This record gives sequence, structure tokens and C-alpha cells, in this order.
Amino acid sequence: MYLPDYIKIILDKLSAKGYEAYVVGGCVRDYLLGQCPKDYDVTTSALPEQIIECFSDYKLLTNGLKHGTVTVIINNLPVEITTYRIDGDYKDHRHPEKVEFTSSLKEDLSRRDFTINAMVYSEKTGVVDYFGGKEDLEKKIIRAVGDPYQRFDEDALRILRALRFASRFGFKIDRPTADAAHRLRYLLEGISVERIQTELCGILMGDCHDVLYNFPDIICEIIPELRASIGFIQYSKYHNRTVYRHTIAATAGSDADIIYRLTMLLHDVGKPESFYMDDDGVGHFKGHALVSRRIAEKILKRLKFSNKITDEVLFLIENHSIKMNDTEKYIKKAVVRYGAEGFLKLINVHIFDNLGKAEWYLWENDFFRSIAQHTREYLEKQPALSLKDLKVNGNDVSALGFVGEEIGKALHFLMDAVIDEHCQNEKEKLLVFLKKNRKNIK
Ligand code: ATP
Ligand code: MG
Repeated sequence: MYLPDYIKIILDKLSAKGYEAYVVGGCVRDYLLGQCPKDYDVTTSALPEQIIECFSDYKLLTNGLKHGTVTVIINNLPVEITTYRIDGDYKDHRHPEKVEFTSSLKEDLSRRDFTINAMVYSEKTGVVDYFGGKEDLEKKIIRAVGDPYQRFDEDALRILRALRFASRFGFKIDRPTADAAHRLRYLLEGISVERIQTELCGILMGDCHDVLYNFPDIICEIIPELRASIGFIQYSKYHNRTVYRHTIAATAGSDADIIYRLTMLLHDVGKPESFYMDDDGVGHFKGHALVSRRIAEKILKRLKFSNKITDEVLFLIENHSIKMNDTEKYIKKAVVRYGAEGFLKLINVHIFDNLGKAEWYLWENDFFRSIAQHTREYLEKQPALSLKDLKVNGNDVSALGFVGEEIGKALHFLMDAVIDEHCQNEKEKLLVFLKKNRKNIK
């Protein structure tokens, strides 16, 4: 295994003093997978005060000392060095009551979550693998170290970590581990939203289809609003999947960008509520985008997503099923209304949405790609029009008695009229046009 020099220095310093020292966990797993480790964690038989003594010449951070972790700053990089430890009894299904240090590497590894995360490496020993981690990597399996029920009961976050690693690496979760995750999912109630948000993003950003498909109960433990989508038949020629299955196909098929993944996960969350069947037995979901937006807002706020992410996702959800045209006039209007970047993202959302529809309908994605192409050509050719180009402004419009949201709507209405050549872009003409067409503004 390739180790960077600064890690070698750390391992060498510890072994020179007679302590055992290894890199552990994610970096060993990633190396065996042929991937570049994100960072290197070190585990050692040295006690915290011995670690501190060993690295007295270095800048140290000791805020993790309670858990046996000393962070050494080396080459301006923080490296966590943790003493072999056994976790005491767990309180609140998350935090060990106390940690005890041990001199046994095997004991330290046995407290780790999954076999693929419970391996260490040093140049002297090579990979040390007490729990069959290598074999599970080869078989592409996530398996708890020890009894999965006990391990999830100790720390329920591990349930989501199992799903995250399965999604990230495209692995299956071993049957007993998966069974325990299903059965103990109610323990997730006690996990902080910050942790849940991080794990959810990790799950969504991976190869998430199978995880969303096989663990809907766990996903709904975090987002109960999705429950109504499961098994919800759409009675539509465009759809050969239930709302939930459509949702996961669209989510997993979208670009790996958290904005898209959250948008697609939640874009149809309002469908069950909006459903109506006509006399011919055809299902309709009129207005579902707005209902989805309302529900999604509640979910994103509860999970403490930033305002930036929330606003962007809600914008895309609200507009995920607008009717688009591949004409110059439509594109100009759409760019004014949604912004250039917003409109291009909306086109993508329409494409991802179609990935979850009946196959015969996929032709529509060529249409959307063509709109995207023409939009880019328009944006390259000339400065995009905006409301600023209009010869009337908000003040002019409010002087006519428009207030609040009506002002923006009136300006967009006039902009559309100019692009459609229904009215010339001259102040007097625009104001007359506006007075005449006031009732047509939507
Ligand atoms: P990543 O590449 O996402 O950082 P990682 O495996 O390094 O993956 P970390 O969260 O950085 O994950 O944790 C480092 C190691 O600590 C893990 O590999 C695992 O051995 C152990 N670990 C982390 N969280 C837990 C937990 N909740 N329960 C048991 N062991 C854990
Ligand atoms: Mg890590």
C-alpha cells in the first residue's frame, strides 16, 4: 500500500518508541478497492499521553482526547491518531458511555462498524484483517462486525452508514445485517438531524438505486412524507412504475449533484395528495408540483439543509413539469423568467424525470436536449434579455395600482409580450398594453 511520507513519519515515530501503529479503516478499504484514500487515520497501542509525548515537536489538537484521539498537524495536514479502544455501554443508541483503552488491536477492530472498515495496514505487517473484510470487498458486501442487531442497537447511525457505503461502492448489504437494519430502523429517531442529513446526502450521491429500492422503510424513517408514494399506481400511459419507483429511477438516473438528487427524490412527493382519476380511469396529478414544493420545503427545513440548497431545490421542484417549447421566442422568455442557469437546470430535471417514465416516452429527451442546445446557442450569440431591458420598471407598474407579487408578474407579462411581438418596447405603449390586458396576467 502506498503511504504518503507524512504518514510514514507518524508510523515510524510510534514504532521507534515500541508502540504498534497502523493506518486504519477507510484508507485501507479504499486502497484495496484501487481508489485514492480521502485521508489516513492512525490507530496505535500508545496511550494518548504517550502519543502527545511522541509528537511534542508538532502542533497538536486535543479536543478528541476523551475518545483517545490526538490530532497531529504534519505538513499542514491534520492526522487523527487514536489509541486502541473498546467502547463501553452505549447510551441513547449513539454514544458510548465511556471508552476504555486496550492493548489489543483485535479488540479495537471489533468495535468498528463493518468488516470492510475494520482492517489495518503497516509496512511491517501488511494488511491485517481479522473479520473477513478483504473477502467482503471482493464479494461486494457490507457486513457488520459481530452481531448486527447489537451493533445497530449500540449506534443506530450505523444503519445509515451501511446504506451509504452500499450506495457509494455499489455493494449489497449482507442479509443478516440488512435484516437488523430493517428491524431496528425505529432507533434512527434518536439520531441528530445533522448526522442524518450528512448520511442521506452520502446515500443519494452514490449509486443509490438499489439502496432506495431495497430500503424504502429506512428512507421513510427519515422522510415519512415519501411513504404514500410507495406502491402508488399512477394510471397513466406515461408511467409504468409506481410513484416511488418512478422517483428512484429519476433520482438514480440524475447527475450526481446533490441539488439534482434532492430535487428528483422529492419532485413527486405531492403526487399521492394531488391524485384524481377521471371517468375513463386515467390518473391525473394536477398541481402536484406546487404540492410537492410545499411538502419538500418542510422536509428540507426539518433536515436543516442550507437556505441556498433549499431554495434551489424548491425552485426546480416547483417548475419540474412546465411545458417547454423549442422555439426562439419561448427560449428567450424562459431565460428571462428562470434565469439562464435556472432554465438549463430545469431542462435537465425534465430529462431526469423522463428516465423514470415508460420507455416509449424517452423520445422526449431528444426534444429537451434540442432545447438545451438552442438555449446555449442563444446565450453564446447575444447578451440574454432580462427585465432590465424593458422600458418600464417596477415603479411605473406600481403607479398603475399593482402591488406585491403582481408587480413582478406584470413585468414578466410585458416582457413576454415584447418577445412575442405583441407590443413594442416603448414606455407609453407598454403601459397602455398593460392596462388593456390586466385581466390576462397570471
Ligand atoms: P470515509 O471515506 O467516508 O471517511 P471512513 O471509513 O474513513 O469512510 P469515517 O467516518 O471517517 O469513515 O470513520 C473512520 C473509521 O472509524 C471507519 O472506517 C470505521 O472503522 C470507524 N467508524 C466510524 N464511525 C463508526 C461508527 N459509527 N461505528 C463504528 N465504527 C465507526
Ligand atoms: Mg474517513
